[in-house]
Amino acid sequence: SLSEKLQGVFKNLRSKGRLSEADVKAALKEVKMALLEADVNFKVVKQFTNTVTERAIGSDVMNGLNPGQMVIKIVNEELVNLMGSEVTDITYGTGGAITTIMMVGLQGAGKTTTTAKLAGKVKQRGKKPLLVACDIYRPAAIEQLQVNGKKQDVEVFSLGQEKPLKIAKEAMDYAKKNGFDVVIFDTAGRLHIDEDMMNELESIKSNIDILNTILVVDAMTGQDAVNVSQTFDEKIGIDGVIITKLDGDTRGGAALSIKAVTGKPILYAGMGEKLSDLEQFHPDRMASRILGMGDVLSLIEKAEAEIDKDAAIALSKKVKKASFDFNDYLTSMAQMKKLGGLTSILGMMPGINSSQMAQLENAVDDKKLAHIEAIILSMTPAERENPKLLNPSRKHRIAAGAGLDIAEVNRFIKQFEQSKKMMKQMPNMMGKGRRGMRFP
Ligand code: GDP
Ligand code: MG
Repeated sequence: SLSEKLQGVFKNLRSKGRLSEADVKAALKEVKMALLEADVNFKVVKQFTNTVTERAIGSDVMNGLNPGQMVIKIVNEELVNLMGSEVTDITYGTGGAITTIMMVGLQGAGKTTTTAKLAGKVKQRGKKPLLVACDIYRPAAIEQLQVNGKKQDVEVFSLGQEKPLKIAKEAMDYAKKNGFDVVIFDTAGRLHIDEDMMNELESIKSNIDILNTILVVDAMTGQDAVNVSQTFDEKIGIDGVIITKLDGDTRGGAALSIKAVTGKPILYAGMGEKLSDLEQFHPDRMASRILGMGDVLSLIEKAEAEIDKDAAIALSKKVKKASFDFNDYLTSMAQMKKLGGLTSILGMMPGINSSQMAQLENAVDDKKLAHIEAIILSMTPAERENPKLLNPSRKHRIAAGAGLDIAEVNRFIKQFEQSKKMMKQMPNMMGKGRRGMRFP
């Protein structure tokens, strides 16, 4: 695999005291071969190795104390750049506009499954999604969406074998009348790129205000997935990509090349057949996975350097005894900031499934931390120690003090109780060393 190869290369580099220009070149020759074998687009490979060579040679690498690490750092950073350095999500409509998402892609890519998976994510944001069955060519496709919609407890709109555009229009009317704020259209794919399919998608796109055209591609098709992305983007225009079956893809070539070739980001990754197996796509984690120096490793390093072990152990004892209060929450927030957020830690923990993960992500969105801090700081010391004191009038006072809506205060307190319950069920996360952790 690519990661093994790169690890082999870098093992040699690590053992050397200094790197010569020839060393960098030799290493990057290996990187180039490994990337090509991983089915990364050859133009992307060429561009990538050029960039890394340019940066590596003539930089501090030659004089650095640990030249191998420096090369790894550059390769890692450039891999992240290649995939888009930021986490990107669906664009949500503003000012009460319905968020429309059209799922497109070849047959078997995973559109119908991913439509239902995505509905779960949308629901977690507190929104009300409607799924629309626009794949009219296979009766089984409508039923498949209905079955999956039911599992997610999400309504499915269908008019049987009517024309897709008519279905889409009526679905929008239905959504408006019934208070749905997100509409996801599951469309029909074909085995290959096909004029009829493109025309059908085009007609929906030109008649309905589609905010997100999301291409679903199968990671296991490697280079084909990249070509398909390029063609769809040229013909109908896409806003982002969801890459499926990443659980079965050992090469990683498609994930690496899509952004570089189309300029469009990967939003989510399908990691299995279950409806909870959809994860936000993190370019940095993917780069680490491809390089084979999983984020667990760097996480442990960071943790060992920065976490005050005694405090952590005390905290984990409190968590276990469920005497965890708002003061502990503040302390753990400070520690988590150092570690790059709770969700990045939990993502590495064994024994947490993706639906628990999603719940936690929802509960402790890193961006909400500032609000949470404001809420806790607006509590009296007694309230911080004893969450049970928080009656409605106290909550109002806290909301006013934090400059936030009472609803947000209530939500946080509810989530606090939930996290507390979940933390109690988790294996001892703070006290243990490497043994309990797994490589991604
Ligand atoms: P569509 O034709 O594009 O609508 O594709 P489907 O949603 O029907 O999916 C085709 C097959 O791929 C089904 O058997 C799915 O269960 C499977 N599938 C979809 N996404 C994933 C994934 O992320 N991982 C795995 N292992 N299987 C997936
Ligand atoms: Mg389908």
